[in-house]
Amino acid sequence: MPIYLYNTLSRTKEVFKPIKKNKVGFYACGPTVYDFAHIGNLRTYIFEDILRRVLTYNDYKVNHAMNITDVGHLVGDGDDGEDKLEIGAKREGKNPMAIATFYTDKFWQDADKLNILRPNKILPATRAIKEQIEIIKILIAKGYAYKKTLAIYFNVAKFQNYGKLSGQKLDDKTTQARETVYVDAEKETRQDFALWFFLTGRYKNHILHWPSPWGEGFPGWHIECSAISRQLLGQPFDIHCGGVDHIGTHHANEIAQSEAAFNIPLARYWLHGEFVLIDGERMGKSLGNFVTLAKVSEKFNPLSFRYLTLTAHYRSQLNLTWESLEAAQSALNNLYQKMRDLTEEANQFWPLIKLSCVFGLSNQKTAVALKTAVQYAEKFRGFINDDLNTPEALSLIWKIMDDATLPAAAKKELLLKFDKVFGLDLNKIKPDYLPRRVKKLAQEREIARQQKQWDKADQLRAQIIKEGWLVEDTPRGPKLMKNIK
Ligand code: AMP
Ligand code: ZN
Repeated sequence: MPIYLYNTLSRTKEVFKPIKKNKVGFYACGPTVYDFAHIGNLRTYIFEDILRRVLTYNDYKVNHAMNITDVGHLVGDGDDGEDKLEIGAKREGKNPMAIATFYTDKFWQDADKLNILRPNKILPATRAIKEQIEIIKILIAKGYAYKKTLAIYFNVAKFQNYGKLSGQKLDDKTTQARETVYVDAEKETRQDFALWFFLTGRYKNHILHWPSPWGEGFPGWHIECSAISRQLLGQPFDIHCGGVDHIGTHHANEIAQSEAAFNIPLARYWLHGEFVLIDGERMGKSLGNFVTLAKVSEKFNPLSFRYLTLTAHYRSQLNLTWESLEAAQSALNNLYQKMRDLTEEANQFWPLIKLSCVFGLSNQKTAVALKTAVQYAEKFRGFINDDLNTPEALSLIWKIMDDATLPAAAKKELLLKFDKVFGLDLNKIKPDYLPRRVKKLAQEREIARQQKQWDKADQLRAQIIKEGWLVEDTPRGPKLMKNIK
C-alpha cells in the first residue's frame, strides 16, 4: 500500500518514493537549546516521530538525523537580535555551552517522556563548524555569497526560485518584513541572509567564535542544517521536516545554500507541522504564553499530551486548553482500562484460535474473526499512509473495542500492533497473571472439546478448578477467571 505525504514543495499529496529502495533519509530541524522546549515545539517532534514510525511500520529502514542548534540562532529571522544561546547564558550567568548541555538534556528528557524515538544521528551545530565553512567557501567561489563588514551574506537574488517552498515572491517578503528587523545597509538585497557573522559591531563580544578564512566569527543559523544534513545523510535525501514557521525563511535558506553550492536538490519531500496555539495565538517563548511539559506533568500523564496531538491532523492548528488536556487524559485512561479488560478477557484464546487452525480445527467463527482483524489492520494502514491521518486511525481503536465479532485477544493484538505507531505505551498495561500451567490445561481442554472428547475435557476442567481458576465457555470461546472464594 503506498504512503501519501503532503509535500510543501509541490503543495500536493504525493506518493512517497524513496531514493534508495526500502531506505529513508530523514532530517528534522532540532531544537534551539537555550531554554526549556514548550509543548508547541514538542508537538512538532511528536509529528516527526509519528512520521518515522509510519515509515518503519511500512518496513522502511529510517535513517533519522537531527541537528542541535547551539549557536547562531538569532531572535529574529531577519538576522536581527541577539543569539538565543547568549541570551540564555546571560540570563543564567553561565557559559553558552553549559546552557546548551543543560537544555539539550532537558529536551531529551521531555522527548523520552513523550515516547519520541531518538534520531539515529544527532549533531550539534558547534561540532560541525568546519563543514559549514566548507559550504560557505563554495558559495563564495561560485559568486552566491559576498563579504561585508559585519557578515558574509548569501545573495538571494542570484538564486533562481528562492521562494519555491513558500510560494512567496521575493518582493512580497520585503513588504512583510517587520519594521524592527535590523537591516545591514551593506546588504545587496534586503532579504540576503548571513552565513557567517564577524566579531564586530553588535557581535563584538559574542562568546562563541571560531577562526575562518575570512576572520574570527560564528555561523548563521541556516547554514548548520545544510552542512549537518549533508554530512549525516548525503544530498539529496528523502524527507525534510520542521514546523510551519520554517517554510518562509529557514528552509528557504537551507534550500538556497545547499542547491546553489552543489547543483542538486537538498531534499525531495518537505513536511511541516502546524502550530500549537494558546488562546488562538501561536505558542512561543518570545510571546510569553508557553507551557512546558513539566507544567503539564504536574496534573497529567505526559502521554495525554501525545494522545491529544494524535486527535488532530499534523497540518491543522491545535488550540491547547486545560479542558482539552483533561479530555485527552480521560480518553487515555479509558483506553488503558479497556486494554486491561481485554487482557483479562483474552485469556490467551486468540493463540488458541490459531492453535485450532494448526490442528485443522478451524471453524467458521475463527475464520470470520481472522478476516475482520485483517480488515481492521488494512484500514489502519490506509489511514496512517494517507498523510498520517492519526485522528481516523485513533478512532478506529474505539471501533475495534466495540466490535462484538472480534475475540478480545485479537483486539489486543491489533491494538499492540497499532501502538507501534501511536507510541502510547499500551504494551506496558499489565495483564492479570495467569499461571502457565493453567493456560496449558485450558488449551488442552479446548482441543479435547473441539475433538469431542468430553470426559477428557471434564477432567481437565477439574484440574483447572483445583488450581484455583474457573473456566466458562462463552460464545467467543472459553474464559478463565480467578476463583475468588
Ligand atoms: P526551536 O527550538 O525554536 O528551534 O523550534 C523547534 C521546533 O518547534 C521547530 O521545528 C519549530 O518550527 C517548532 N515550533 C515552534 N513553535 C511552535 C508552535 N507553537 N507549535 C508547534 N511547533 C512549533
Ligand atoms: Zn534546519
